[in-house]
This record gives sequence, C-alpha cells and structure tokens, in this order.
Amino acid sequence: MTASDTLHIVCPHCHTTNRVRRDQLGAAPDCGSCHKALFTGQSVALDAASFERHLGRSQVPLLVDFWAPWCGPCRQMAPGFEQAAAQLEPGMRLAKVDTEAVPALAGRYGIRSIPTLILFKDGREVARQAGAMGAADIVRWARSAG
Ligand code: ZN
Repeated sequence: MTASDTLHIVCPHCHTTNRVRRDQLGAAPDCGSCHKALFTGQSVALDAASFERHLGRSQVPLLVDFWAPWCGPCRQMAPGFEQAAAQLEPGMRLAKVDTEAVPALAGRYGIRSIPTLILFKDGREVARQAGAMGAADIVRWARSAG
C-alpha cells in the first residue's frame, strides 16, 4: 500500500486524524479514536482550534460556510448546506464557522459579507462565493471548483 492509497480524514467528532484507504472512503469508515462515523452527511461546526486541524490535515477538500446566527440569509441557506453535505461527502468535508464566535477567522480570510463559502484544498483557498445558494447550486459550484 502506497501513501496515495490512503487519505487523511479528520474526525468531525473528536478531530483526530485518521488514515483511510481511498477505496474505503465510501464504506462508512469509523474514527479509530472515538469510533463514531467519519462521515455523517452533516456539516461540522468548527471553532478556531478544530478549524486549524481540519484545514491543516484533511486530505479531502474542506468547504466552509462562514455565517452568523443573526444573519437571515445564512439561516435560510442552512438546510440547503446540510443537503449539500449529504451529497458531497465523502469526497469533501463540509463545515460551518460562526463568524461571531470566531471573528479572528473571518478577519483572516477577509470575510466582508455572509454567508460566504470558501473551498480549501490542502490548506489553501481555491474558491469562494458570497451570497446564499440552494443545495443544488452549492453542489454544482463545489464540484466545479474542487
Ligand atoms: Zn473521532
């Protein structure tokens, strides 16, 4: 088995980095540490520390919704984002960052309006899109960008 046969997948529950065989990605792999499912079909809420973990270690693209609880369009988009998570996993990890709870991250990425989606690959931003989108548009955009 070579390195390219395995991917580093960060657990959405305990944020431990797991090595998963590429061909096992779709077979509902469990976390070796907390034994919960590595993919749940739902986005993961990240704080500053867990964001760094996923950003730095995940070998599947990380799609982050920068949002805030007081933002109407953000709340409107939330169900669509969860539907997109169900469709895009396990090829991507979908996450949410509350810009009010973690303003430093919003500042670092220069988030000027919310919701803003940013797609990260290997720790680097590869695409961003501001404004609310429905599930189908999120999936289409993420697949074309990723
Ligand atoms: Zn875990």
